[in-house]
Amino acid sequence: MNLTTAIQSAVRLAADLVFPQTCVHCRTEGKLLCDPCLAEAPRVGPYPCSKCAMPLAAAGYCARCAQAQPPLAQLRAVFRMEGAIKDAVHALKYDDLRAIAPILGTQMANAARRSTASIDLVAPVPLHHKRLRDRGYNQAELLAIPVARQRGAPLDKDLLARIENTPPQARAANEAQRKERVLHAFTAAERARGKRVLLVDDVATTCSTLNACARELYRAGAKNVRAIVLAREI
Ligand SMILES: [Zn+2]
Ligand SMILES: [Zn+2]
Repeated sequence: MNLTTAIQSAVRLAADLVFPQTCVHCRTEGKLLCDPCLAEAPRVGPYPCSKCAMPLAAAGYCARCAQAQPPLAQLRAVFRMEGAIKDAVHALKYDDLRAIAPILGTQMANAARRSTASIDLVAPVPLHHKRLRDRGYNQAELLAIPVARQRGAPLDKDLLARIENTPPQARAANEAQRKERVLHAFTAAERARGKRVLLVDDVATTCSTLNACARELYRAGAKNVRAIVLAREI
């Protein structure tokens, strides 16, 4: 991030902490995401596909995952990408509202608490260094902080690197295009060897990005790769 962006960003963060906060969804004063909006935020449902978090009628895999066998061992999504959660993600990613990250990350940490799987490293899905410079922070890394703390595993922000500056997935036309775009976008560090990794990201849509990351981690010798996202597009 350049100096002007850094100063603007610091001023914004200070203002977020000092001035009365309003809920990103209902605009009530108090918190950046108020308790009623959080309580009403739609969850993925009782039987998400264990590999892609799409809601199912019963526990197990969806037909697509059964057929495609994506590399990710498990995906947990806390919310649906709708309403208050959608507003919160947009505020975090596009409005520089970093102060909302601990609220969202804590929801992920609470969901992760139910997992009995052992984790050695928590790894946020990385941004390309150019996008990181423009935004000033990686939202996935901010969300990963409470998750790593809850799981008692180190946060390894450089375990993965994004080597191709692919266009934002939100602008991709379809799933095939998303998959193609991220196929060679990541590399994993050698220290992934033998590790059980928990990937963290803000949103999953087709899971192309998460599976591209998982593929690279397995290529580097990771023992197991799971993921948790704040929200799932459904
Ligand atoms: Zn609210
Ligand atoms: Zn699935």
